[in-house]
Amino acid sequence: MKESCAIVARVLRHLEPMIRPGVTTRELDVAAEEFIRSQGAEPAFKGYGPDKNNLFPASVCASVDDEVVHGIPGDRKLAEGEIVSIDVGVKKDGYFGDGAWTFAVGKISEEKARLMLVTREALAEGIKRTVVGNRVHDISSAIQKRVESDGFSVVRDLVGHGIGTRLHEEPAVPNFGSPGTGMPLEEGMTLAIEPMVNFGTHRVIVDADRWTIRTSDRQPSAHFEHTVLVTEGQAMILTA
Ligand code: MG
Repeated sequence: MKESCAIVARVLRHLEPMIRPGVTTRELDVAAEEFIRSQGAEPAFKGYGPDKNNLFPASVCASVDDEVVHGIPGDRKLAEGEIVSIDVGVKKDGYFGDGAWTFAVGKISEEKARLMLVTREALAEGIKRTVVGNRVHDISSAIQKRVESDGFSVVRDLVGHGIGTRLHEEPAVPNFGSPGTGMPLEEGMTLAIEPMVNFGTHRVIVDADRWTIRTSDRQPSAHFEHTVLVTEGQAMILTA
């Protein structure tokens, strides 16, 4: 887990300097896949999906502005002022790592910068609550509280998840919920915590490609994700 998650972190760091106006999301995807394979690992998202006739075709998800998650890389050129969420999944020696980061393309508006900051802070708040003795929804409610205190909304239709020898495992880790409820956190659990935060409504729609999730009001959305290990003390961020 530590190895696959470290590769996730390195992929994001590798892509960061490429994220400039004019780059296509496909170029980012190609660079990510090359990098992942150079580490002796496999891209976990490529060929993933519930529908055999519509498997995810790329190594990263690239979701621009009102795209929340699961954007398919393609010919779209990133433009100054956009924000792009890059989600990376890696499999190495049978174990998975999952992480995401939202990047600014050139200079962005104050509103988008605040959306990104609050999403990062919400993830940090959730991780702070990820300790033995707490329950899953203690994480969820901490994320929700941080997000809604700034007037933004958390996506309800998609959630974080357990991760290990499969990309998605129990338990679901929603970004909303009541403290003191949900599965008790135990030492050794590995969770992908991933607030998806919308500027406006929490409602989302699915594009015709049946992958891309976007906000129903077309306002921007941000996404930050870490895979963490539950320990007796503070959770260890494996994708840091
Ligand atoms: Mg995930």
